[in-house]
Amino acid sequence: MNKKSVKDVEVRGKRVFVRCDFNVPMKDGVITSDKRIAAAIPTIQYLLENGAKVILASHMGKPHNIFTEGFGLTKKEKKAVEKLPEAEREAAKAEYLAKAAGDRKKLTLAPVAARLNEYLGNKVTFATDIIGEDAKAKTAALKEGEAVLLENVRFDAREEKNGADFAEALASMADLFVNDAFGTAHRAHASTEGISHYIPAVSGFLIDKEITFMGGALEKPEHPFVAILGGAKVSDKIGVITNLIDKVDTIIIGGAMAYTFIKARGGKIGTSLCEDDKMELALSLVEKAKEKGVNFLLPVDNKCATAFDNDAESLICDIDAVPDGYMGMDIGPKTIELYASAVKDAKTVIWNGPMGVSEFDNYAAGTRAVAEAVAQSDAISIVGGGDSTAAIEKLGYADKISHISTGGGASLEFLEGQELPGIACLEDK
Ligand code: AMP
Repeated sequence: MNKKSVKDVEVRGKRVFVRCDFNVPMKDGVITSDKRIAAAIPTIQYLLENGAKVILASHMGKPHNIFTEGFGLTKKEKKAVEKLPEAEREAAKAEYLAKAAGDRKKLTLAPVAARLNEYLGNKVTFATDIIGEDAKAKTAALKEGEAVLLENVRFDAREEKNGADFAEALASMADLFVNDAFGTAHRAHASTEGISHYIPAVSGFLIDKEITFMGGALEKPEHPFVAILGGAKVSDKIGVITNLIDKVDTIIIGGAMAYTFIKARGGKIGTSLCEDDKMELALSLVEKAKEKGVNFLLPVDNKCATAFDNDAESLICDIDAVPDGYMGMDIGPKTIELYASAVKDAKTVIWNGPMGVSEFDNYAAGTRAVAEAVAQSDAISIVGGGDSTAAIEKLGYADKISHISTGGGASLEFLEGQELPGIACLEDK
Protein backbone atom coordinates (compact mmCIF):
# COMPACT_ATOMS: atom_id res chain seq x y z
CA MET A 1 0.00 0.00 0.00
CA ASN A 2 1.73 3.09 -1.23
CA LYS A 3 -0.23 6.25 -0.59
CA LYS A 4 0.88 9.85 -1.02
CA SER A 5 1.42 11.88 2.13
CA VAL A 6 1.56 15.65 2.71
CA LYS A 7 5.28 15.43 1.98
CA ASP A 8 4.61 14.23 -1.57
CA VAL A 9 2.64 17.29 -2.68
CA GLU A 10 3.08 21.06 -2.83
CA VAL A 11 1.15 22.73 -0.03
CA ARG A 12 2.45 26.32 -0.15
CA GLY A 13 -0.31 28.80 -0.75
CA LYS A 14 -2.89 26.02 -0.92
CA ARG A 15 -6.05 25.74 1.13
CA VAL A 16 -5.65 22.40 2.88
CA PHE A 17 -8.59 20.64 4.54
CA VAL A 18 -7.23 18.41 7.31
CA ARG A 19 -9.54 15.79 8.85
CA CYS A 20 -8.22 15.24 12.37
CA ASP A 21 -9.39 13.15 15.28
CA PHE A 22 -10.15 15.73 17.97
CA ASN A 23 -12.71 13.47 19.60
CA VAL A 24 -11.19 14.12 23.03
CA PRO A 25 -12.73 13.19 26.37
CA MET A 26 -14.48 16.18 27.97
CA LYS A 27 -15.98 16.85 31.37
CA ASP A 28 -18.06 19.96 32.01
CA GLY A 29 -16.57 21.71 29.00
CA VAL A 30 -13.00 20.88 30.01
CA ILE A 31 -10.71 18.58 28.02
CA THR A 32 -9.61 15.75 30.31
CA SER A 33 -6.96 14.31 27.97
CA ASP A 34 -5.50 16.14 24.99
CA LYS A 35 -3.46 13.18 23.71
CA ARG A 36 -5.27 13.24 20.38
CA ILE A 37 -4.73 16.97 19.93
CA ALA A 38 -1.04 16.61 20.72
CA ALA A 39 -0.79 13.73 18.24
CA ALA A 40 -2.25 15.89 15.45
CA ILE A 41 0.21 18.77 15.95
CA PRO A 42 3.10 17.51 13.74
CA THR A 43 0.95 17.39 10.58
CA ILE A 44 -0.64 20.78 11.31
CA GLN A 45 2.70 22.36 12.21
CA TYR A 46 4.26 21.02 9.02
CA LEU A 47 1.48 22.53 6.93
CA LEU A 48 1.65 25.90 8.70
CA GLU A 49 5.43 26.09 8.41
CA ASN A 50 5.22 25.26 4.73
CA GLY A 51 2.84 28.08 3.94
CA ALA A 52 -0.48 26.27 3.72
CA LYS A 53 -3.83 27.83 4.65
CA VAL A 54 -5.15 25.16 6.96
CA ILE A 55 -8.79 24.19 7.49
CA LEU A 56 -9.15 21.77 10.40
CA ALA A 57 -12.17 19.49 10.86
CA SER A 58 -13.15 16.74 13.26
CA HIS A 59 -16.12 15.09 14.90
CA MET A 60 -16.72 14.96 18.63
CA GLY A 61 -19.04 12.42 20.21
CA LYS A 62 -22.37 11.38 18.75
CA PRO A 63 -24.56 14.48 18.68
CA HIS A 64 -28.24 14.55 17.82
CA ASN A 65 -27.91 16.46 14.60
CA ILE A 66 -30.15 18.92 12.92
CA PHE A 67 -30.61 18.93 9.21
CA THR A 68 -33.85 20.46 8.04
CA GLU A 69 -34.57 17.92 5.33
CA GLY A 70 -35.82 14.86 7.18
CA PHE A 71 -35.47 16.79 10.43
CA GLY A 72 -32.23 15.07 11.31
CA LEU A 73 -33.99 12.07 12.84
CA THR A 74 -32.82 8.54 12.16
CA LYS A 75 -35.30 6.37 10.24
CA LYS A 76 -36.28 4.60 13.44
CA GLU A 77 -36.78 7.86 15.33
CA LYS A 78 -38.76 9.31 12.43
CA LYS A 79 -41.09 6.31 12.32
CA ALA A 80 -41.62 6.49 16.06
CA VAL A 81 -42.46 10.20 15.81
CA GLU A 82 -44.82 9.65 12.88
CA LYS A 83 -46.82 7.09 14.82
CA LEU A 84 -47.60 9.62 17.51
CA PRO A 85 -50.78 11.74 17.50
CA GLU A 86 -50.28 15.21 15.99
CA ALA A 87 -49.94 17.04 19.30
CA GLU A 88 -47.46 14.56 20.72
CA ARG A 89 -45.54 14.56 17.46
CA GLU A 90 -44.80 18.24 17.85
CA ALA A 91 -43.73 17.65 21.44
CA ALA A 92 -41.42 14.82 20.37
CA LYS A 93 -39.87 17.00 17.71
CA ALA A 94 -39.40 19.79 20.20
CA GLU A 95 -37.76 17.36 22.62
CA TYR A 96 -35.42 16.19 19.88
CA LEU A 97 -34.50 19.74 18.97
CA ALA A 98 -33.81 20.51 22.60
CA LYS A 99 -31.46 17.52 22.79
CA ALA A 100 -29.71 18.63 19.61
CA ALA A 101 -29.34 22.15 21.00
CA GLY A 102 -27.90 20.73 24.23
CA ASP A 103 -25.40 18.65 22.26
CA ARG A 104 -24.32 21.75 20.38
CA LYS A 105 -23.16 23.20 23.67
CA LYS A 106 -21.70 19.97 25.04
CA LEU A 107 -19.96 18.77 21.89
CA THR A 108 -18.66 22.00 20.40
CA LEU A 109 -15.04 21.99 19.26
CA ALA A 110 -14.45 25.49 20.68
CA PRO A 111 -12.34 24.18 23.62
CA VAL A 112 -10.23 22.25 21.09
CA ALA A 113 -9.49 25.47 19.20
CA ALA A 114 -8.29 27.04 22.43
CA ARG A 115 -6.03 24.08 23.16
CA LEU A 116 -4.66 24.06 19.59
CA ASN A 117 -3.67 27.68 20.07
CA GLU A 118 -1.66 26.75 23.15
CA TYR A 119 0.33 24.33 21.00
CA LEU A 120 0.54 26.45 17.87
CA GLY A 121 0.91 29.96 19.22
CA ASN A 122 -2.47 31.51 18.43
CA LYS A 123 -2.60 30.65 14.75
CA VAL A 124 -6.05 29.08 14.87
CA THR A 125 -9.44 30.77 14.64
CA PHE A 126 -12.71 28.96 15.27
CA ALA A 127 -15.70 28.88 12.94
CA THR A 128 -19.04 28.49 14.68
CA ASP A 129 -20.47 26.47 11.78
CA ILE A 130 -19.23 23.87 9.30
CA ILE A 131 -20.11 25.02 5.80
CA GLY A 132 -22.10 28.13 6.78
CA GLU A 133 -21.36 31.85 6.56
CA ASP A 134 -18.81 31.91 9.37
CA ALA A 135 -16.81 28.98 7.96
CA LYS A 136 -16.87 30.47 4.46
CA ALA A 137 -15.74 33.90 5.64
CA LYS A 138 -12.99 32.57 7.92
CA THR A 139 -11.58 30.11 5.38
CA ALA A 140 -11.63 32.77 2.67
CA ALA A 141 -9.71 35.16 4.94
CA LEU A 142 -6.94 32.67 5.77
CA LYS A 143 -3.38 33.74 5.08
CA GLU A 144 -0.45 31.38 4.55
CA GLY A 145 0.56 29.83 7.87
CA GLU A 146 -2.86 30.35 9.49
CA ALA A 147 -5.55 27.86 10.41
CA VAL A 148 -9.27 27.74 11.12
CA LEU A 149 -11.03 24.96 13.00
CA LEU A 150 -14.56 24.21 11.78
CA GLU A 151 -17.35 23.26 14.20
CA ASN A 152 -18.07 19.55 14.91
CA VAL A 153 -18.78 17.98 11.50
CA ARG A 154 -21.32 15.60 13.04
CA PHE A 155 -23.61 18.50 13.89
CA ASP A 156 -24.78 18.00 10.31
CA ALA A 157 -26.55 14.69 9.63
CA ARG A 158 -25.07 14.58 6.15
CA GLU A 159 -21.55 13.96 7.56
CA GLU A 160 -22.21 10.37 8.61
CA LYS A 161 -24.51 9.75 5.65
CA ASN A 162 -21.70 10.87 3.34
CA GLY A 163 -24.08 13.31 1.64
CA ALA A 164 -22.66 14.39 -1.71
CA ASP A 165 -23.81 18.02 -1.36
CA PHE A 166 -22.21 18.30 2.08
CA ALA A 167 -18.94 16.67 0.92
CA GLU A 168 -18.84 19.00 -2.08
CA ALA A 169 -19.42 22.04 0.13
CA LEU A 170 -16.51 20.96 2.36
CA ALA A 171 -14.33 20.44 -0.70
CA SER A 172 -15.27 23.82 -2.16
CA MET A 173 -13.40 25.52 0.70
CA ALA A 174 -10.10 23.76 -0.10
CA ASP A 175 -7.62 22.69 -2.79
CA LEU A 176 -6.28 19.59 -1.04
CA PHE A 177 -7.67 17.02 1.40
CA VAL A 178 -5.39 15.58 4.06
CA ASN A 179 -6.78 12.68 6.06
CA ASP A 180 -5.09 12.28 9.43
CA ALA A 181 -7.93 10.70 11.42
CA PHE A 182 -7.17 7.00 11.51
CA GLY A 183 -9.87 6.31 14.12
CA THR A 184 -12.59 7.10 11.55
CA ALA A 185 -10.77 5.83 8.45
CA HIS A 186 -12.98 2.71 8.40
CA ARG A 187 -16.05 4.92 7.91
CA ALA A 188 -17.03 6.45 4.58
CA HIS A 189 -18.22 9.79 5.90
CA ALA A 190 -18.27 13.13 4.06
CA SER A 191 -15.15 14.49 5.77
CA THR A 192 -13.26 11.17 5.74
CA GLU A 193 -14.02 9.94 2.22
CA GLY A 194 -16.72 11.89 0.35
CA ILE A 195 -14.58 15.02 0.06
CA SER A 196 -11.92 13.06 -1.88
CA HIS A 197 -14.31 12.85 -4.84
CA TYR A 198 -13.82 16.58 -5.46
CA ILE A 199 -10.21 17.45 -4.55
CA PRO A 200 -6.89 15.53 -4.42
CA ALA A 201 -6.40 13.50 -1.24
CA VAL A 202 -3.25 12.52 0.68
CA SER A 203 -2.44 11.27 4.18
CA GLY A 204 -1.15 13.20 7.17
CA PHE A 205 1.71 11.89 9.29
CA LEU A 206 -0.49 9.84 11.64
CA ILE A 207 -2.20 7.86 8.92
CA ASP A 208 1.09 7.57 7.06
CA LYS A 209 2.61 5.89 10.13
CA GLU A 210 -0.33 3.50 10.45
CA ILE A 211 0.06 2.51 6.80
CA THR A 212 3.84 2.14 7.08
CA PHE A 213 3.78 -0.10 10.15
CA MET A 214 0.57 -2.08 9.84
CA GLY A 215 0.69 -2.23 6.05
CA GLY A 216 4.37 -3.19 6.24
CA ALA A 217 3.68 -6.00 8.70
CA LEU A 218 0.89 -7.40 6.55
CA GLU A 219 2.69 -7.05 3.23
CA LYS A 220 6.35 -7.68 4.00
CA PRO A 221 6.79 -8.87 7.60
CA GLU A 222 10.11 -9.89 8.99
CA HIS A 223 9.94 -13.43 10.38
CA PRO A 224 9.35 -14.89 12.87
CA PHE A 225 6.04 -13.01 12.89
CA VAL A 226 3.97 -13.44 16.06
CA ALA A 227 0.37 -12.24 16.48
CA ILE A 228 -1.04 -11.98 20.00
CA LEU A 229 -4.81 -11.73 20.17
CA GLY A 230 -6.91 -11.37 23.27
CA GLY A 231 -10.08 -9.77 24.51
CA ALA A 232 -13.63 -10.73 25.19
CA LYS A 233 -14.94 -12.44 22.10
CA VAL A 234 -13.53 -14.74 19.48
CA SER A 235 -16.24 -13.45 17.13
CA ASP A 236 -14.60 -10.00 17.16
CA LYS A 237 -11.24 -11.44 16.12
CA ILE A 238 -12.24 -14.11 13.57
CA GLY A 239 -11.52 -11.80 10.63
CA VAL A 240 -8.11 -10.91 12.04
CA ILE A 241 -7.16 -14.54 12.77
CA THR A 242 -8.30 -15.62 9.30
CA ASN A 243 -6.26 -12.90 7.59
CA LEU A 244 -3.15 -13.38 9.73
CA ILE A 245 -3.06 -17.16 9.55
CA ASP A 246 -1.59 -16.91 6.04
CA LYS A 247 1.12 -14.50 7.14
CA VAL A 248 2.33 -15.33 10.66
CA ASP A 249 4.48 -18.04 12.21
CA THR A 250 2.76 -18.02 15.59
CA ILE A 251 -0.68 -17.01 16.84
CA ILE A 252 -1.09 -16.54 20.58
CA ILE A 253 -4.59 -16.51 22.04
CA GLY A 254 -5.51 -15.02 25.42
CA GLY A 255 -8.41 -13.40 27.23
CA ALA A 256 -11.94 -14.70 27.44
CA MET A 257 -11.89 -15.71 23.77
CA ALA A 258 -9.54 -18.59 24.61
CA TYR A 259 -12.31 -20.49 26.41
CA THR A 260 -14.33 -21.02 23.24
CA PHE A 261 -11.32 -22.94 21.86
CA ILE A 262 -10.78 -24.83 25.11
CA LYS A 263 -14.41 -25.93 25.44
CA ALA A 264 -14.52 -26.85 21.73
CA ARG A 265 -11.66 -29.33 22.24
CA GLY A 266 -13.41 -30.86 25.25
CA GLY A 267 -11.95 -28.89 28.17
CA LYS A 268 -13.84 -28.03 31.35
CA ILE A 269 -14.19 -24.24 31.56
CA GLY A 270 -16.54 -23.76 34.52
CA THR A 271 -18.52 -20.55 34.11
CA SER A 272 -15.93 -18.85 31.85
CA LEU A 273 -17.22 -16.77 28.98
CA CYS A 274 -17.78 -18.88 25.89
CA GLU A 275 -19.42 -18.40 22.51
CA ASP A 276 -20.99 -21.81 22.01
CA ASP A 277 -22.04 -21.01 18.46
CA LYS A 278 -18.42 -20.29 17.53
CA MET A 279 -16.92 -23.54 18.79
CA GLU A 280 -16.94 -25.28 15.44
CA LEU A 281 -15.34 -22.29 13.81
CA ALA A 282 -12.71 -22.22 16.56
CA LEU A 283 -11.79 -25.82 15.81
CA SER A 284 -11.59 -25.09 12.10
CA LEU A 285 -9.19 -22.19 12.77
CA VAL A 286 -6.94 -24.50 14.81
CA GLU A 287 -7.09 -27.04 11.98
CA LYS A 288 -6.26 -24.40 9.39
CA ALA A 289 -3.28 -23.23 11.46
CA LYS A 290 -2.01 -26.82 11.60
CA GLU A 291 -2.32 -27.18 7.82
CA LYS A 292 -0.34 -23.98 7.29
CA GLY A 293 2.33 -24.94 9.82
CA VAL A 294 1.37 -22.01 12.08
CA ASN A 295 2.14 -22.47 15.76
CA PHE A 296 -1.27 -21.86 17.40
CA LEU A 297 -0.82 -21.28 21.12
CA LEU A 298 -3.66 -21.50 23.62
CA PRO A 299 -3.28 -20.98 27.37
CA VAL A 300 -2.17 -24.02 29.37
CA ASP A 301 -3.22 -22.68 32.76
CA ASN A 302 -5.26 -19.82 34.15
CA LYS A 303 -6.32 -17.83 37.17
CA CYS A 304 -10.01 -18.32 37.76
CA ALA A 305 -12.39 -16.82 40.29
CA THR A 306 -15.82 -17.43 41.80
CA ALA A 307 -17.18 -14.12 40.48
CA PHE A 308 -16.38 -11.28 38.07
CA ASP A 309 -14.90 -9.31 40.93
CA ASN A 310 -11.36 -8.24 41.79
CA ASP A 311 -11.68 -9.62 45.32
CA ALA A 312 -13.50 -12.87 44.57
CA GLU A 313 -11.93 -16.12 45.76
CA SER A 314 -9.49 -17.27 43.09
CA LEU A 315 -7.18 -20.15 42.23
CA ILE A 316 -4.72 -21.20 39.54
CA CYS A 317 -5.41 -24.38 37.61
CA ASP A 318 -4.92 -26.09 34.24
CA ILE A 319 -6.86 -24.38 31.49
CA ASP A 320 -9.07 -27.38 30.75
CA ALA A 321 -9.85 -28.17 34.39
CA VAL A 322 -11.63 -25.06 35.63
CA PRO A 323 -13.73 -26.13 38.63
CA ASP A 324 -17.51 -25.75 38.58
CA GLY A 325 -18.52 -22.29 39.77
CA TYR A 326 -15.21 -20.69 38.70
CA MET A 327 -14.61 -18.48 35.69
CA GLY A 328 -11.31 -17.91 33.91
CA MET A 329 -10.08 -14.34 34.51
CA ASP A 330 -6.42 -14.31 33.43
CA ILE A 331 -3.75 -16.52 31.91
CA GLY A 332 -1.69 -18.42 34.50
CA PRO A 333 2.08 -18.43 35.26
CA LYS A 334 2.94 -21.36 32.96
CA THR A 335 1.14 -19.65 30.09
CA ILE A 336 2.92 -16.38 30.82
CA GLU A 337 6.24 -18.19 30.50
CA LEU A 338 5.18 -19.93 27.30
CA TYR A 339 3.92 -16.73 25.67
CA ALA A 340 6.91 -14.64 26.75
CA SER A 341 9.29 -17.14 25.23
CA ALA A 342 7.28 -17.24 21.98
CA VAL A 343 7.63 -13.46 21.70
CA LYS A 344 11.31 -13.33 22.65
CA ASP A 345 12.86 -14.09 19.27
CA ALA A 346 10.15 -12.58 17.11
CA LYS A 347 11.09 -10.04 14.46
CA THR A 348 7.52 -8.76 14.00
CA VAL A 349 4.86 -8.71 16.72
CA ILE A 350 1.27 -7.56 16.48
CA TRP A 351 -0.70 -7.41 19.73
CA ASN A 352 -4.37 -6.57 20.13
CA GLY A 353 -6.50 -7.37 23.17
CA PRO A 354 -5.87 -8.12 26.86
CA MET A 355 -4.90 -11.55 28.22
CA GLY A 356 -7.45 -11.29 31.03
CA VAL A 357 -9.70 -8.91 32.90
CA SER A 358 -6.85 -6.43 33.11
CA GLU A 359 -9.00 -3.60 34.43
CA PHE A 360 -8.98 -5.54 37.74
CA ASP A 361 -5.55 -5.52 39.34
CA ASN A 362 -5.78 -9.14 40.49
CA TYR A 363 -6.22 -10.35 36.90
CA ALA A 364 -3.81 -8.00 35.14
CA ALA A 365 -0.62 -10.07 35.50
CA GLY A 366 -0.98 -11.82 32.13
CA THR A 367 -1.57 -8.62 30.19
CA ARG A 368 1.30 -6.92 32.01
CA ALA A 369 3.65 -9.80 31.29
CA VAL A 370 2.78 -9.75 27.60
CA ALA A 371 3.29 -5.97 27.52
CA GLU A 372 6.71 -6.50 29.05
CA ALA A 373 7.63 -9.28 26.62
CA VAL A 374 6.58 -7.20 23.61
CA ALA A 375 8.46 -4.14 24.91
CA GLN A 376 11.61 -6.13 25.57
CA SER A 377 11.73 -7.92 22.23
CA ASP A 378 13.79 -6.49 19.39
CA ALA A 379 10.89 -7.02 17.02
CA ILE A 380 9.01 -4.41 15.06
CA SER A 381 6.11 -4.17 17.49
CA ILE A 382 2.61 -2.97 16.74
CA VAL A 383 0.06 -2.60 19.51
CA GLY A 384 -3.64 -1.80 19.11
CA GLY A 385 -6.80 -1.82 21.20
CA GLY A 386 -7.65 0.14 24.35
CA ASP A 387 -6.63 -2.39 27.00
CA SER A 388 -3.33 -3.41 25.39
CA THR A 389 -2.36 0.21 24.80
CA ALA A 390 -3.34 1.14 28.35
CA ALA A 391 -1.13 -1.65 29.74
CA ILE A 392 1.83 -0.49 27.65
CA GLU A 393 1.38 3.12 28.71
CA LYS A 394 0.80 2.34 32.37
CA LEU A 395 4.06 0.38 32.49
CA GLY A 396 5.95 3.19 30.76
CA TYR A 397 6.80 1.08 27.70
CA ALA A 398 5.29 3.30 25.01
CA ASP A 399 8.70 4.36 23.69
CA LYS A 400 9.75 0.71 23.37
CA ILE A 401 6.91 -0.04 20.94
CA SER A 402 7.47 0.67 17.24
CA HIS A 403 3.87 1.69 16.64
CA ILE A 404 0.82 2.15 18.85
CA SER A 405 -2.21 2.24 16.61
CA THR A 406 -4.66 5.04 17.34
CA GLY A 407 -7.82 3.45 15.96
CA GLY A 408 -9.77 0.67 17.66
CA GLY A 409 -12.24 -0.47 15.00
CA ALA A 410 -10.12 0.90 12.17
CA SER A 411 -7.09 -0.98 13.44
CA LEU A 412 -8.94 -4.30 13.54
CA GLU A 413 -10.41 -3.79 10.07
CA PHE A 414 -6.93 -3.01 8.76
CA LEU A 415 -5.59 -6.25 10.28
CA GLU A 416 -8.53 -8.12 8.76
CA GLY A 417 -7.15 -7.03 5.40
CA GLN A 418 -10.17 -4.86 4.65
CA GLU A 419 -9.93 -1.76 2.57
CA LEU A 420 -10.56 1.30 4.76
CA PRO A 421 -12.51 3.96 2.82
CA GLY A 422 -10.56 6.84 4.42
CA ILE A 423 -7.29 5.30 3.18
CA ALA A 424 -8.44 3.75 -0.09
CA CYS A 425 -9.54 7.23 -1.25
CA LEU A 426 -6.01 8.66 -0.94
CA GLU A 427 -3.87 9.06 -4.05
CA ASP A 428 -1.37 6.34 -4.86
CA LYS A 429 2.32 7.26 -4.97
P1 AMP B 1 -12.10 -6.45 23.75
O1 AMP B 1 -13.18 -5.42 23.89
O2 AMP B 1 -12.44 -7.57 22.86
O3 AMP B 1 -10.74 -5.86 23.48
O4 AMP B 1 -12.00 -7.11 25.18
C1 AMP B 1 -11.67 -6.40 26.32
C2 AMP B 1 -12.45 -6.93 27.46
O5 AMP B 1 -12.25 -8.33 27.57
C3 AMP B 1 -12.02 -6.35 28.75
O6 AMP B 1 -13.03 -5.49 29.24
C4 AMP B 1 -11.83 -7.54 29.67
O7 AMP B 1 -12.52 -7.39 30.90
C5 AMP B 1 -12.47 -8.67 28.91
N1 AMP B 1 -11.85 -9.94 29.24
C6 AMP B 1 -10.59 -10.32 29.00
N2 AMP B 1 -10.37 -11.55 29.50
C7 AMP B 1 -11.52 -11.94 30.08
C8 AMP B 1 -11.91 -13.10 30.79
N3 AMP B 1 -11.07 -14.12 30.97
N4 AMP B 1 -13.18 -13.16 31.24
C9 AMP B 1 -14.03 -12.15 31.03
N5 AMP B 1 -13.71 -11.03 30.39
C10 AMP B 1 -12.47 -10.92 29.93
